[in-house]
Amino acid sequence: MKTVGMIDIRAQYLRLKEEIDRAVLNVFDSAEFINGNEVKLFEKELAEYNGSSHAIACANGTDALQIALMALDIPPGSEIITPAFSYASATEVCHLMGWKPVFCEVNPDTFLMDENHAESLITPQTKAIIPVHLFGQVCDMHSIMEMAARHNLFVIEDNAQAIGSNYTFPNGRKVKSGAVGHISTTSFFPTKNLGCFGDGGAVLTNDENLARNARMIANHGQHSKYIHHITGMNSRLDTVQAAILRIKLRHLDEFARARQLVAMHYQNDLGNIGEIQLPAKAPGSGHVYNQFTIKLKNAEQRSEFQAHLKENGISTAIYYPMPLYKQVAYHNDIHLETTEQLCETVVSLPVGTEMDTDTLKYITDNIKNKYSRTNS
Ligand SMILES: *Cc1c(COP(=O)(O)O)cnc(C)c1O
Repeated sequence: MKTVGMIDIRAQYLRLKEEIDRAVLNVFDSAEFINGNEVKLFEKELAEYNGSSHAIACANGTDALQIALMALDIPPGSEIITPAFSYASATEVCHLMGWKPVFCEVNPDTFLMDENHAESLITPQTKAIIPVHLFGQVCDMHSIMEMAARHNLFVIEDNAQAIGSNYTFPNGRKVKSGAVGHISTTSFFPTKNLGCFGDGGAVLTNDENLARNARMIANHGQHSKYIHHITGMNSRLDTVQAAILRIKLRHLDEFARARQLVAMHYQNDLGNIGEIQLPAKAPGSGHVYNQFTIKLKNAEQRSEFQAHLKENGISTAIYYPMPLYKQVAYHNDIHLETTEQLCETVVSLPVGTEMDTDTLKYITDNIKNKYSRTNS
């Protein structure tokens, strides 16, 4: 029996070990642990990669959202629309900062924000919308930007799971994910597509004023040393992490291709199983498969599926098991049918940049065995 984890981040390190070890030791040698030259270079290279004018590195992806929203200077009490089927960061930041998260529904097939439902939730208090590019696909940014313009809203793209993905507008213009909204955020948590060896994050924007605000906020609200212009945060990316990320950024497109090959294997091998619904492509979007997420028919089938794979040494995970409005911390008395259904039926399969064909075949053979048994 093989043992297959959700992601093997060690395998990726081993492939780049020589280069990474050298870069990390160089930082030790320079002793520029905070705001070292590697941080400045990484910010420049990240902005260039993404086709954004400015990148501001910070301590993690949740801070990045907080910094982005603070940079927009949104008044307390404002409403901010964000999907209910997502990771908690955007909601958490709203609660912390005194904004009201308003939960919108997602598309049952792509899992991405339902922009029509989002528009129906807009009130005079709504000031911003946070589309989350879930699992590696990009939301319908054309419609979202048009809607935002109609209602005078800021758009903050949560690009933590889709960095390196792309989006094509209906007129054919192609951009990187996270380069469309007024501001975007990403995370370098180790299991993200561009992961460092600890915590890290960044804010990206084409707006010079927003960039200046964000940079000031991330650094104690200082515009120069010991001059505190506004109340900010202490949210910095360590130089060691920046040095690692500079190396990994050069491989990001290749990482995306490796993940796409894994997804292709799953799509080809699992396409004929009636019990399983494979992930749907979102119109205009690329896919970098931070997760490969399938749907089963119901919660019971999903438990059986997970138990069967676990018996064979294969990990699976549920992103996400509970609508955000049902969490004790963010409780809100609403009911969103698709979100609730997804929380009961989705399950994500292992994806990594170093997965070999044998491992992939082992996973899909085990899945096929389960269903040929029940069907016969
Ligand atoms: C990971 C993630 C974040 C938060 O990133 P951290 O670096 O862990 O704070 C925010 N939003 C989404 C969608 C994420 O997947």
